[in-house]
Formats: sequence, structure tokens, C-alpha cells
Amino acid sequence: MTITRFIPPQRTLMGPGPSDVSPRVLQALSQPTIGHLDPLFVGMMDEVKALLQYAFQTTNAFTIAVSAPGSAGMETCFVNLVSAGDTVIVCRNGVFGDRMRENVERCGATAVMVDDEWGQPVDVSKVEAALKANPDTSIVAFVHAETSTGALSDAKALSALARQHDCLTIVDAVTSLGGVPLLVDEWQLDAVYSGSQKCLSCVPGLSPVTFSPRAVERMKTHDGKVQSWFLDQSLVLGYWSGEGKRSYHHTAPVNSLYALHESLLMLQQEGLENAWQRHREMHELLKAELEALGIEFLVDEAYRLPQLNAVAIPDGADDALVRQRLLNEYNLEIGAGLGTLAGKAWRIGLMGYAARKENIALCAKALKDVLG
Ligand SMILES: *Cc1c(COP(=O)(O)O)cnc(C)c1O
Repeated sequence: MTITRFIPPQRTLMGPGPSDVSPRVLQALSQPTIGHLDPLFVGMMDEVKALLQYAFQTTNAFTIAVSAPGSAGMETCFVNLVSAGDTVIVCRNGVFGDRMRENVERCGATAVMVDDEWGQPVDVSKVEAALKANPDTSIVAFVHAETSTGALSDAKALSALARQHDCLTIVDAVTSLGGVPLLVDEWQLDAVYSGSQKCLSCVPGLSPVTFSPRAVERMKTHDGKVQSWFLDQSLVLGYWSGEGKRSYHHTAPVNSLYALHESLLMLQQEGLENAWQRHREMHELLKAELEALGIEFLVDEAYRLPQLNAVAIPDGADDALVRQRLLNEYNLEIGAGLGTLAGKAWRIGLMGYAARKENIALCAKALKDVLG
């Protein structure tokens, strides 16, 4: 076998992530690597923090990017805030809520599950009942935008409820950040994590996180050593915000952070409200195209995510074959159904740079041709 250079095709990414990366971000990624303790790089990291605070709409001092994908952001929140023996309420209305349960259990804590049907938002009254039944609960964890189903939950109401019961919140905002309103301070969310490759138009591999002062206080009372050395934020903070001089913790993914800086700058230049608006408008355009093809949405309009369109696979269409033809003939990737929706749904993403008219036109034409 002769191995030659790998030259990836130019695809259009309209699945659940990674989504299309902006050319500006790819260009930033290819700039010369400098040392991760170089004063110029440290200055850029400070700007990444400030840009992330804008994206999250927070003044939280502890706002950084974890050097690993969204799943590591999830784990960062759990391992630093959950001690063995704690009780955590975990809302599960799709794949990612179940991963939260895994995290809680691996911390040696008890996960009290609040289940809702796939495609439904988290039911706030069920969470209230669980809080009343489990008065020793210290944390409520939920997914804001469930990428596996396309449903948006009411983060503001869930946070208010958790506060009434003196609980912190851990919030999965991997798909919501940059795509739908997410107001960390106004809604008083405590530990929020996201991902670079969904609505931020950046490459995969980084996980923005933000912790409220309350969450930072809780971390300090963590029982014993945090089980993960790499994700122990008391160690990482010395690198992201060491006063004056920064200490080495791990080698930062220098070029990926250039990329994140550029993608966040793009978001700031567009304006957060305008980005939310663009996602909504592109969703409306896609919806009109899909409905013209007789394709139906799985999630009720009231809590449907604009950036992740879960639709029923039309009768008679061969799931795998359609997606394969879209990829091979149109260089277009859409997402398959996940978990209980496997074989029943397609997930069409309109995330970040992918949320634009050219993509919708391509997707509509390709689906029309392939479905005949
Ligand atoms: C994609 C996603 C994750 C995981 O992020 P990775 O970057 O794939 O590790 C977690 N939660 C939600 C809601 C997601 O959409």
C-alpha cells in the first residue's frame, strides 16, 4: 500500500456537527504556531476569554476553553462539582442526558433521572416533583438544546426552579451557544459547557466552559481530589489566569485556539442577536423547502431548534442509501437518527456558517433529486 497525502473533499456539513467551518477560521488555523507561553499568545487567550464571555452573555471570570471536545467540557463540569455521595437530578430527553447520568455515576454520586420522551423538552413540573422527593439534591443537570432530537428546553425556568431548591445547575449548551438565545448571567446558570464545532463555525476539539462564582465556591469544597488530573480546574486555572506569570499545565492547542478566536470574533462582529435571527430565518427557509417535499418535522414548533431539524424519513425512502447518495453525488452530509430515532429520522443541521441560503438551496435540490 502506498500512502500519499490525504486530500479531503469539499463537503457541505449539514448534520449534527461538525458543521461547516468558515474559511476565515480555516485561514486562522493555518497561521504559524507560536509557543503557548509566548506573551503574544497569552494576550490572545485573554481575548478568547473576553469573546467567550460575550458569547455566553456572562461576566463570569472563570470562562475558558477546555482543550478537548464538548464531551470533555461535560466531564469537566461533573468531576469538579460532583463529589462521591452527592445526589444529582439528571434530565434525560435524548442521548446527551444519558451521558450526564454516566458522568454522575462515575463520580460515585447518585443520579435521580427525570425522563421525558424523545423530541419533547424537559418537563419543569417533573423536575420540581423530583426536587421535592429528593431534598438532599445538590445539582440539577439538563441539556439546553438536545441535538439527538432537535428539542429546546426552558433553561431559564429550570434554573429558577433549581435556585429555589438551593441547587446548582450544570447545563449542556453544546448546540445552543451561538444558535439560540443563551443568557448565562440573566438566567443565573452555574456551570455551562459548549463545543467549538456546532454553531460557532469552528473546527472540532475545544469546549468553551463558564462557571458562576457560586460554582467556583462549590469546586473549592470538592470532597477529596478531583478524579481526573487533566480536567481538575484548580490546576488548569493556573495556566489560564495565573496572576502575572502563567504556569505550564498542558500544551495548549495553539492553532485551534487561533481558530476559536477568529470564530468568536466573527460572532461578535455579526452580533449575537443577529446570529440567533439568522438561524431562525434559515430554519424557516429550510422548513418551507422540506414541507414542499412532503417531509415532516418530528418536534413541535413551540420548542423546535432552528439549528437542528429532526424530520421523519419519508415512507419508502432507504435511509442509508439516501444519505450515501447525498454524500457521494452532492458532497452533502446530513445526520442519521441517533438512539431510538435511528432509522426513523434525519437530522439536518443549520449550524453557524452552515446556516446560509446556499446550503438550503443545495439541500433542497439534492433531496428532491435523490428522493425522486
Ligand atoms: C455534540 C454534543 C455533545 C458532545 O460534543 P463532542 O464535541 O462531540 O464531544 C454534547 N452535548 C450535545 C448536546 C451535543 O450536541
